[in-house]
Amino acid sequence: MDIKISKVRLLDGRTVDIAIEGDRISDLCGDVPGNADIEIDGSKFIAMPGLVNCHTHAAMSLFRGYGDDMPLDKWLQERIWPAEAKLTADDIYWGAKFACLEMIMSGTTTFSDMYFHSERTAQAASDAGMRALINEGYIDLGDPDKREVGKKETLESLEKIKAIGDPQVQPALGPHAPYTVSKEGWEFMCGLAKEQDLLVHFHLGETAQNIEDVKGQSGMKPVEFLNSVGVFEDRCTAAHGVHFDDEEIKLLAQKGVNIIHNPESNMKLGVGSKLRYRELKAAGVNICLGTDGSASNNGLDMFTSMKFAALLSKMDGYPEAMPALEAVELATVNGAKALGIDAGVLEIGKLADIILLDKASLCFHPGFDHISDVVYAADGSCVDTVIIGGKIVMQGRHVDWAEECISKMTECSQKFRS
Ligand SMILES: [Zn+2]
Repeated sequence: MDIKISKVRLLDGRTVDIAIEGDRISDLCGDVPGNADIEIDGSKFIAMPGLVNCHTHAAMSLFRGYGDDMPLDKWLQERIWPAEAKLTADDIYWGAKFACLEMIMSGTTTFSDMYFHSERTAQAASDAGMRALINEGYIDLGDPDKREVGKKETLESLEKIKAIGDPQVQPALGPHAPYTVSKEGWEFMCGLAKEQDLLVHFHLGETAQNIEDVKGQSGMKPVEFLNSVGVFEDRCTAAHGVHFDDEEIKLLAQKGVNIIHNPESNMKLGVGSKLRYRELKAAGVNICLGTDGSASNNGLDMFTSMKFAALLSKMDGYPEAMPALEAVELATVNGAKALGIDAGVLEIGKLADIILLDKASLCFHPGFDHISDVVYAADGSCVDTVIIGGKIVMQGRHVDWAEECISKMTECSQKFRS
């Protein structure tokens, strides 16, 4: 046995020993016999599955607080895109590595990222010991020249990410959104997804303007358009999903499209509506959770995302819409399902992606219901220890490479001061 966590409390109230061998949970019961190479006294902790952040632009850590309180279009055109034009591959590595640090320190063990120079984000995730699906964002705006460049970048990113040789860090596909990618661009992505069995990760129905843009370009609603290009036949995660009508929800459910709720980013960018959680849930859609990038959130703490998701689902008169346990499921098992990883629950045989929460944190007092505490009272600072694929990446809130990472990222961000 490699690691044994003794007498740890689970969210369901049981106290157990958890044994880890290699990258998997090898035993979990009231009393696991034998000793391990690493023994952790679990009596001070609550164990839960590592959090799964299904929508990030990790390197955007560099732009936290760089442009706020603006609508999406203006924010992108006036602040983000001009700044992104100045980014080097090195900036992206340190921005993404810093995001990994922030995610680890707030209990996230897996993330799914879209950005450019994606091989640098993949390298950062691998160096940080995280589990990740990384894609190269693809935009062609209907321009054949941009399409050729985008195709080339996508194909190169797949090869470069595979070449890192880390089984925890895998490539995916990142067609940005139905309003920025042409029919031919989507068809290229669908072909690749089938050929290499890749996850397709995109934005969908973020603002009302996005919907009108797609209707103007294709004569179809975004969900109809994506269905017509065949992408729903692949494994899909769609971020935001705010502006859907009943018909679109029915189609998304039929096609098994995973919807990523990004409550904080949606609220901050004022996208004009909110995820129709009750309707999506009733239709049987798998709903998972994401933070979006640090420029539109402005952090990567999935604990606060759980809270915002739960609160937002209730505010129009439905306090029972998303109970606390469901918010935890969005952030764990539903995310793992969407990304196709064998984690998200603490069970024998599952990947050992485990976080230990410090019972001494004020949020766990008086401690009537730890599921309630995790969603409504906690933030990421309650996380003491993070284990990913059976390896300890943080213990006692200490991460070996934190100091260097913070200083490098701060250095890279200097050029954006004006
Ligand atoms: Zn996004």
